[in-house]
Amino acid sequence: MTPRRIPFLSLVPVEDRDAVNAAIDRVVSRGWFVLGPEVEAFESELAAAMGAAHGVGVGSGTDALSLILRALDIGPGDEVITTALSAAYTALAIVMAGARPVFADVDPARLTIDPASVEHAVGPRTRAILPVHLYGQAADMAAIQPIADRHHLAVIEDCCQAHLATADGRPVGTIGVAGAFSFYPTKNLGALGDGGAVVTNDPALADRIKRLRNGGQTDRYRHVEAGVNSRLDEIQAAILRSRLPRLPAWTDRRRRLAAAYRARLADAPVHAIPERDSGHVYHLFVVRSDARSDLQAHLAASGIETLIHYPVPVPQQPAFRTASPADCPAAARACSEVISLPLHPAMSTDDVNDVAAALLAFRPATGRTACVR
Ligand SMILES: *Cc1c(COP(=O)(O)O)cnc(C)c1O
Repeated sequence: MTPRRIPFLSLVPVEDRDAVNAAIDRVVSRGWFVLGPEVEAFESELAAAMGAAHGVGVGSGTDALSLILRALDIGPGDEVITTALSAAYTALAIVMAGARPVFADVDPARLTIDPASVEHAVGPRTRAILPVHLYGQAADMAAIQPIADRHHLAVIEDCCQAHLATADGRPVGTIGVAGAFSFYPTKNLGALGDGGAVVTNDPALADRIKRLRNGGQTDRYRHVEAGVNSRLDEIQAAILRSRLPRLPAWTDRRRRLAAAYRARLADAPVHAIPERDSGHVYHLFVVRSDARSDLQAHLAASGIETLIHYPVPVPQQPAFRTASPADCPAAARACSEVISLPLHPAMSTDDVNDVAAALLAFRPATGRTACVR
């Protein structure tokens, strides 16, 4: 019998298909495709949903990060401390702004940036700390913000995996000076293409980013600085407006599926990343195994698709190898052990049960228990 296939996620709109099509139709009929009423409305609706005063739509999450840095005049000659465990785009955004990424190691359990390692990485050129709310769980902001205050550094939050997440009850993106969101299709709030946004409580910063995203123009054909072309499309903004009201329910669903995984996997030969903050929004459900490649092959044979977030610490990527000599043992170990299980709002509890059953049936070839900590 061929097992039922459980995909990692599914991006075809189902429950919101009519709403998405109506949003697209509205924009097509209006004939206004760049920086129009949909983007303007989405910016205020997003800001309200995320508990921030201002929202600015941009072309991607990477651009959102890079434009925050540029708007803070962080660039050539400056250093920005970020985590060794993230999508490489976090560090690429720092390079795009002209600054140099300096990598801190991660907390060995929670896998977000380790505040002690951040403190150690601060130097005379450091201008900002860029924590990532990894897998949907907030970084340890209560420990990071005092370090930033002590050294007069800006905190810029990478919220690309953390739509609606909170840190000790505070919405992510509003704790530091600004937060960057991505609407890449696989994110908790996804467009049907690329998109991103900045949220901030600082009106001057929001205005500067609005100028930078639009070529540095103040008025039409008056470029006061060399900005970029990084605008959120009207069609994507309209789609995101149709989806934003559903995000709380989708987030609840992710949390329930994650709780079901935790309950079912208590005796499995894997170790789930601990939930240190109940504001976790479960962009990913990640477990660790010291027999990861065998486990991934076993799950694939059972029809279960998994992914690795991430196989290599960012400082060990060829693109960054010279960026920092920092050695990040906790990130390196995580990269050899983590495996992301299927999790998306359209998934059923039966799917979770089947994934858990396959995990419980896994016997590491070497007989190791595969449990870490
Ligand atoms: C997706 C992601 C990004 C980049 O967002 P894009 O919209 O793809 O540019 C940056 N950081 C993290 C943590 C991400 O998950």
